[in-house]
This record gives sequence, structure tokens and C-alpha cells, in this order.
Amino acid sequence: MLKLPIRWRLTFWYAAALSLILLVFCGLLLPLSYHQLLARLDSQLHEELQEIFLESQIARTPEELNFSLQARFRQHETFDFIVYEPSQAVIFASSNVTREVIDELSSTPSNQSSETYGTFRVMEDRYYRVSSRTADGPNGKLIVRVLTPLDPVIADIQTLLALMAALLPLGLVLALLGGYFLAVRALAPVQHIVGVADSITISQLDRRIEVTNPHDELGHLAGTLNRLIARLEVAVDEIRRFTADASHELRTPLAILRSEAEFALRKSRTAEEYESTLRVVVDEATRLGTLADQLLTLSRQDAGLDAMRFEPVEIDPVILDVVESLTSLGESRGVHLKANCGSHAVVSGNDIRLSQVFFNILENAIKYSASGTMVEVESANVGDQVQVVIRDHGPGIPAEHLSHVFERFYRVDPSRNRAVGGSGLGLSIAKSIVSAHGGVIQIKSEIGEGTEVTISFSRHDARSKPGVDAEQNGNARQVSLPNTPT
Ligand code: ADP
Repeated sequence: MLKLPIRWRLTFWYAAALSLILLVFCGLLLPLSYHQLLARLDSQLHEELQEIFLESQIARTPEELNFSLQARFRQHETFDFIVYEPSQAVIFASSNVTREVIDELSSTPSNQSSETYGTFRVMEDRYYRVSSRTADGPNGKLIVRVLTPLDPVIADIQTLLALMAALLPLGLVLALLGGYFLAVRALAPVQHIVGVADSITISQLDRRIEVTNPHDELGHLAGTLNRLIARLEVAVDEIRRFTADASHELRTPLAILRSEAEFALRKSRTAEEYESTLRVVVDEATRLGTLADQLLTLSRQDAGLDAMRFEPVEIDPVILDVVESLTSLGESRGVHLKANCGSHAVVSGNDIRLSQVFFNILENAIKYSASGTMVEVESANVGDQVQVVIRDHGPGIPAEHLSHVFERFYRVDPSRNRAVGGSGLGLSIAKSIVSAHGGVIQIKSEIGEGTEVTISFSRHDARSKPGVDAEQNGNARQVSLPNTPT
């Protein structure tokens, strides 16, 4: 079906509704008017009938009755009178009454003492309104009838009908015009909203749609669109910042790679010099690879493409695997790792992503700790939650930086970060994975004392095994890793 614009659809609905109302109104008005006119006519007939009834009572002879009826007829020419005997013999008929009328009426018996009213058709197209009753005449019972042609009533009804036939199309045209005018007026704010929304481009996301009445439907629509544009503005700002930060991050290792290669190519070098250059190249390439992986992870998460398959995961083995994989890094930095995982908790999650969380935080703890210190990892049940705590005794993070460390590309000390190979993305990735698991990540730090990161998840097994905590916590598992003094 052809879809018309809303203003036309509103116009047609409006016109259709109005036409229907007009039709119903006319449909009621016609019979009502007809009955009203008929009632007025009947009351006039009643008066005439009453008069004749009285005169027939008063008259002492048929001649006297005839005379008074003649006189009455002359006074009231619009009414005709017929007086019969019960044998249907006509005693008096006013001069307008034709033979056909007398015949038609005489075939209609009337011998009630009360008045009766009726409509008679004579010769196809002549209609009469007739009132009748019986009366006592000079020589006994008489039937008295007063009649009048129905033509004036029919003419009035026909005029009314003609008027309606002329006014209905006019009303329809007016309804169409009025409906269109109202629809255009009502939809004018929509046009305004469409115009503004159409003109907003990616570089003008600070523009908003003017809301004239925030309480009506269109005000709500404009408000919703404004909130949508505001969210888009925030998202686009984030993307811009992210892109700028990412390109900045990529520039540094690329510049190092280039300058190292140029330096090596400038003249012929010794084997040791080439080896040292290649080592830098490998380091920077590794850094670039890690950065590319992290950027990919974040952009996939942002785009919602990183749909994780959640299944019950035992958290302790995941932590212990990460601890084991970072043991050699700890060894190389002289940092001891100690794992105390006794939660036996099962969470609903994705083991690869969860190990990425623990890896990023544990790697930080090792990277930023001084040689000879210890990094501890613990898991324990707290109510229906499992808490994983990773604690180091490194330099700590200044309080003013603490609330920013989960932001993308945020580094407390960029020069120091570069030395340990950080890009400022590790914690933000960890946080987004934890959030996707419905968990919470918190960080506490004291300058000179160290840093403690706590991650909490709802336990998948908590509801099925109530009271499991006490038993499991009392039976904590201590894991000794090669360089983990227990
Ligand atoms: P990076 O990859 O640079 O380590 P992160 O997002 O993991 O980035 O961490 C953000 C910043 O927080 C780091 O640059 C570092 O300055 C600080 N930081 C994180 N963990 C620790 C820690 N255990 N001790 C001290 N500083 C830390």
C-alpha cells in the first residue's frame, strides 16, 4: 500500500471522521425534522377537528351543519373537511376534496370516538395528512375527517435534503483544508527537529535541538535525540583521544627503529654493534607487537566484537597458570612470587580473558617492584564473592594518580614506564574485562609501601553450595613456585 506522509494521513483521518459525524448528524436531523413538522401539522388538524366536532354537536339540522362547515372551510382554506354517515354516505365535503380522495378515505374505516391520525396516498404522488373521529350529528353518529396535503412538509424536507447535499461536500472540502492546516501546524516542530538533526555532522556534535515544550511528545523526542547526540559526542571524543594517543604510542618505537637502522647503515659496524642494534630492533618490534595486540583487544571490546563465551571457570588454576608464566620475568628482575590460592571458587567467565586480567596486574606488580621484594597473589571467598588480591612492595602510586590509572594510555611516570615497556593500556584492559564479567577492580597504594589490586567476582557456585566458604578457606592451598619462598 502506498505510504502517504503523516500530514496527509492525519488530514484524511480528520476529514473522514468529520464526514462521518456530518453524515450521522444529517441522518438524525432528517427524520427528526420530518416528525417535528408532522407533529405541528397534527396539532393544527386537531384544532380543526375539535371545532368541527363541536359544530356537529351544536347543529340542530343537517342544513345548519352544512352551513357552518361551509363557513369554516372559507376561513381555513388550507384544510379540507369530509363528514360521512356511518353508512359511508358523504354529508359534507369541502370543494377542494376530489372524488379520488373521498374514495380513498371511505375505504378506511374510522368509528373511534378518539382522534386518529394517518397519512394517505392518493393517485401515486399526492399525500394527505388526515385526522378523524366520530361525532354526534343532528341525525345521529357522524364520521368527521380533516385533511390537508402533505406537500409543504415534503417540500420542507426536500429543501433540507438539498441543503445537506450542497453543504456536505463543502464540509468535506473544509475538513480537508482544516485537517491539512492542523496537521502541518502540529508537525511543524518535527520538521524543525529533522532539519536540525540533518544538519548535525560529526564535527558539529556540540549542537543541540531546541526544545520548546519539554513536556509534550515532540519535546520528549527532541530531548531523546539531544541525549543521543550527547552520547555520540562523548563517544567520538573518546575515539579521537584514543586515536591520537595510539598514533603517539606507535610513533615512538617506530622512530627508535628507524634511527637505529639509520645509525647502523651510516657506515660499516662491528659484529657487536650490529648485534646491539638488532637487539633494540627486536625489543621495539616486541613492544609494537604488544601495543598492536592491546589496541586490537580494546577496539574489539569497544565495537562489541569481543563476544566472550562464558562458562564455569575455576579461578585458582587460572591464577596459578599466570603466576607460573610470569615466574621467569620475576626471576629476571629478582622479584619473588608467592601464591596463596585457596578459594576453590568457580566463576562464570572466560578463562582466557580472566588470565589476561591477572597477567596484566601481576606483570605490573613485577615490573614496578624493586629487586629483592616480594609479590603476593591470594584468592579467598568473601560471602558469595571471590576476591583475588595482588600485592607488591614496590614504589607505590601517588594518590593524585590513583584514580586515573584505569584510563587508557595513562602513565604515572612516562619515562619510567618506557624503561619497563609499559604502554598505559594494561589496567584499562583489565578493568573492561572485569566489568564484562560483572566484577569490580580496585586499587590501593602507599608511596614507598607498595600497591594492592583487589578484583572481586560473584561466585558461580555460591548459590548451589551455601556454607562452602568456611570449609574451603580453612583449607587454603599454598603453591610454591621455583622462586617463591613460602
Ligand atoms: P602500563 O602498561 O604502562 O603498565 P597500566 O595501565 O598497566 O599501563 O598501568 C598504568 C600506570 O599505573 C602505569 O604506567 C604505572 O605508572 C602505574 N602502575 C600500575 N601498576 C603499578 C604498580 N603495581 N606499582 C606502581 N605503579 C603502577
